[in-house]
Amino acid sequence: MSDFAQTVKQQADIVKVIEGYIRLRKAGAQNYTGLCPFHKEKSPSFSVHAVRQFYHCFGCHESGDVFSFVGKIENVSFPEAVRIVAQKCGIPLPKREFSSPEEAAEARQRTRLLDLHETATAWFEEQLRGPEGAVAREYLAGRGLSAEGMKTFRVGYAPDSFNALRDRLSGMADEETLRASGLFSAKEQGDGTLGHIYDRFRKRVMFPIANESGRVIAFTGRALESGEKAGPKYFNSPETPLYSKSHVLFNLDKARTAIRKMEFALLVEGQMDCISVFLRGIQNVIATSGTAFTEQQVAILRRHTSQVVVNFDPDTAGAGATEKSISLLTEEGFTIKIVTLDGGLDPDRYIRERGVEAYTAALRGARRQEDYLIERARQMFPGASAEQKVKAMNYLLPHIRRMPQKLARDQFAHDAAQKLNIDSAVLREELHLAALRRRDHVEVRATALNEVERVLLRALAITDPENERTRRLAAEALSQQPAWFEHLGTFAAMQALAIREANDPMDVVEDSAQRALLAEALLAEVKPPTEELVHETLAWHEANLIEQQLRQLRAEMAERERQAGWEEALKLNETRAALEHRLSELKASGSGGRDQ
Ligand SMILES: [Zn+2]
Repeated sequence: MSDFAQTVKQQADIVKVIEGYIRLRKAGAQNYTGLCPFHKEKSPSFSVHAVRQFYHCFGCHESGDVFSFVGKIENVSFPEAVRIVAQKCGIPLPKREFSSPEEAAEARQRTRLLDLHETATAWFEEQLRGPEGAVAREYLAGRGLSAEGMKTFRVGYAPDSFNALRDRLSGMADEETLRASGLFSAKEQGDGTLGHIYDRFRKRVMFPIANESGRVIAFTGRALESGEKAGPKYFNSPETPLYSKSHVLFNLDKARTAIRKMEFALLVEGQMDCISVFLRGIQNVIATSGTAFTEQQVAILRRHTSQVVVNFDPDTAGAGATEKSISLLTEEGFTIKIVTLDGGLDPDRYIRERGVEAYTAALRGARRQEDYLIERARQMFPGASAEQKVKAMNYLLPHIRRMPQKLARDQFAHDAAQKLNIDSAVLREELHLAALRRRDHVEVRATALNEVERVLLRALAITDPENERTRRLAAEALSQQPAWFEHLGTFAAMQALAIREANDPMDVVEDSAQRALLAEALLAEVKPPTEELVHETLAWHEANLIEQQLRQLRAEMAERERQAGWEEALKLNETRAALEHRLSELKASGSGGRDQ
């Protein structure tokens, strides 16, 4: 690890950094727990050790330090993870070090693209305030957006020009980078190459899309004119090295604090809905961009909450997207409620026409997804005929099967049978089977550590000079009697720790499986073991080994006596006496003889 990475690691608080991604709850003097972001689970098995500065999941055995966490969750390389953590902690970056020229180039390009987006955002804002922006300001005012609101969301205006933005940005980056930014378009030439670039967004209200850190990475442009010439009503940045539509939840950067605090996220469809709701004080609101949720978006959301209130447009397309999103969220174990606003209004119009109190009341009246789906089944397949009931049921069955918990499935199936008036035994049986069929996730939490390993690993991981004697006691036993320990699963970790040079025990153990076991041992207890406990443990371990040897020796002696006579057997007597003597010594000191 470079000096810089070391510095960052020392200054970064792993709990704070991880809390930026998932919810953590204090679980002990030095431990925090939360739902693991690396595997699906309903109850927390993910732990963070505040003092040792590492994390470990008892479910999927993922473990590591602050850099491996950020690297894994952001899917970036080690140097990039160091850079991200440094930025989060306000540590200035030195001249960059990258493992490969490609990586360095990629990072440089990302920085340039972010700079371009920042400059473009400021420039669009400027245009909105300028004379050309009048028509856009009028439109925004008509949608109830205040000047303050425009500032909060950095709303801007792209003027009706093919080269105004290009001229503004051309001095900042080469043409290749400008093309990669997604802010420009180019026509394909006769020979298949691309022609000169020109402004992609023209005569549009510009809504910046930010990543979780609040940096602008893309835009949505809303056309001010309709008609073929104006193009689509909403027009997004294309996929770029910065922006992937399926990985971004609009407004999450502003909403995440409120989502944590209120313990649920309000999910709306459009950006305008989201902005409108947020500016009226309901700040835990995020938006998809009018499409169904992707798995990546669900994964991102799960770091912040497991409860979602969905308020999509009531039209048919909206209902389709709602159902898809519900399905995905259900599979991932979310608790979901659905809001349907009366009058067929979208959140933005509802809140403007009826006020924020009415909207808050509607949110409180949100229905459980089971009730919503049953109601929808009844609407789609009305009537009491057996045929309609079968259709309604076939619509519900996959939803029922999708629920991860059996109890919830049972309840859902029961409600469906009742509300759809299903009296047929056959249909009821089908519902019952749907409730049974879902495979529950069985989490393997078997531990491979025995008590000796637990104590010794913790002793060997001691870092404070005050308890150095305890550490040395364990380390000496390991170097003097390696044979006592080599059958243990954590022998490699113990050996590495016994001769360690670096201060951080988690850095010493390179093998990830071994590191996970070490993490497990360190998370089990708050305080390091005392010298006395290590002493006792070593004695106990030795006594156990001797008893084992004695059992083998006695068997061997019996065998010799039978085959070669007692004289041969007696040759082993001396060894036996020595072992028995040592064992009685150990037992006299009060430590031997317990079962392992
Ligand atoms: Zn896990």
